[in-house]
Amino acid sequence: MSLSRSARLGAAATAAASFLVVAASSAPTPGAPGIGDPYFPQLGNGGYDARHYDLDVAYAPDTGRLDGRTTLTARATQKLSSFDLDLQRLEVTGVQVDGRRAEFSRDGDEMTVTPRRALSEGRVFTVSVTYGGVPEPLGGPIIFGSAYGWMKTGDGVFVACEPNAASTWFPSSDHPADKATYDIRIKAPRGLTAVSNGRLVSTYDKGGSTYTHWRESKPMATYLATATIGKFDVRTGRTPGGIPVYVAVDPVLKNSGGVDVYGVTAAATDYWSQVFGPYPFEETGAIVDDMPQAGFSLEVQSKPVYSAVRNETTIVHELAHQWFGDSVSVARWKDTWLNEGFATYAQWLWAEHQGTRSAHDSFLAGYNARPADSAFWQTEVADPQRDTMFSSAVYQRGAMTLQVLRERIGDKAFFELLPAWTRLHRYGNADTDDFVRLAERVSGRRLDDLFGTWLFTTGKPAL
Ligand SMILES: [Zn+2]
Repeated sequence: MSLSRSARLGAAATAAASFLVVAASSAPTPGAPGIGDPYFPQLGNGGYDARHYDLDVAYAPDTGRLDGRTTLTARATQKLSSFDLDLQRLEVTGVQVDGRRAEFSRDGDEMTVTPRRALSEGRVFTVSVTYGGVPEPLGGPIIFGSAYGWMKTGDGVFVACEPNAASTWFPSSDHPADKATYDIRIKAPRGLTAVSNGRLVSTYDKGGSTYTHWRESKPMATYLATATIGKFDVRTGRTPGGIPVYVAVDPVLKNSGGVDVYGVTAAATDYWSQVFGPYPFEETGAIVDDMPQAGFSLEVQSKPVYSAVRNETTIVHELAHQWFGDSVSVARWKDTWLNEGFATYAQWLWAEHQGTRSAHDSFLAGYNARPADSAFWQTEVADPQRDTMFSSAVYQRGAMTLQVLRERIGDKAFFELLPAWTRLHRYGNADTDDFVRLAERVSGRRLDDLFGTWLFTTGKPAL
């Protein structure tokens, strides 16, 4: 930005400058309806940069109704006559821009807001949306056919939104390339516990309700936000390394699974902090909820949510995502291997750390188990296509790629590369090319053949 601005000033004395000056004072235009992701052309929005969300939600588990007000603080990145938010299905009753009523229209999952006056480029503004309805989960092939999003439970709601369900419960720029900080305030029936991201600011009962305020002060992708509500046993403390822990377990699951969620969460957070670099968030934890219809767990920022899947290897996977996915987020959804390949590789590292199996042996087991004619080898990991973006190849071949890389560049360079990656892109976004370039820089080697074979082509690579 500053580059184009100084170029404009520098050119002011020349004839060519008049075009640029005219361009700078040109008429405001609408922001784009999508952020430019080929897998989800409508997700995210153009023309502004989301900075902070104030989410207020009141949830009535008996009726399933949510009433909300979202105030988004954003910065215009162009001169805007109007801009879009993503919102699926819920009814909007009012919109304000900088406190003044604004016009809006709906078209599918896009909501277009037209402020009374155009917003100049660089201007920081707020847009408040009052809305309500009964949020419905999404389905389809993306999450292996499982429902996901805002999912009603026996005692509240389970909220896990990857990749595109955040906009089923709050209006947003619903793409990980537009991260922001959050204040999340939840009103729920008295006696229930509301768990969200970051740290607990306050919780109190008034009348028949419980009011809970959470604050996520580090940038977060929309899909990592949660407002999970229900009956929970909460245990707080610190890891041996000193990181605050908040673990909420549905009491009906207390004795199932046999895994010590609190203990594994604390141990894995500390261990990953040594291997991947400093823990990026203010608190670690877990939300364990009784939601058998969700056939997945999700690396919700600072507190993964666990449903049907609860075991040690899942916990270490979701916690590895706090670095790979949550702090360093994908720029486009085709890069999901940067999340899933790394979190799967973390499972292999955990087994190595426990002394049960080396990462090399985990690699060989996965490699040898799949014959060359297996469909597994037909996924291009660096561009797996939308409906198969969470296919097993993204996880397993992604992890295999990291083991092949480790054996090529050696342990010293490899274990410098991982924390270098999380440091360089902390709280930001990155893509596969960024990783390839960093791996080459840290190792001092050309690696395009390795990544070309393992990430950008199909077929079973020869060893
Ligand atoms: Zn994962």
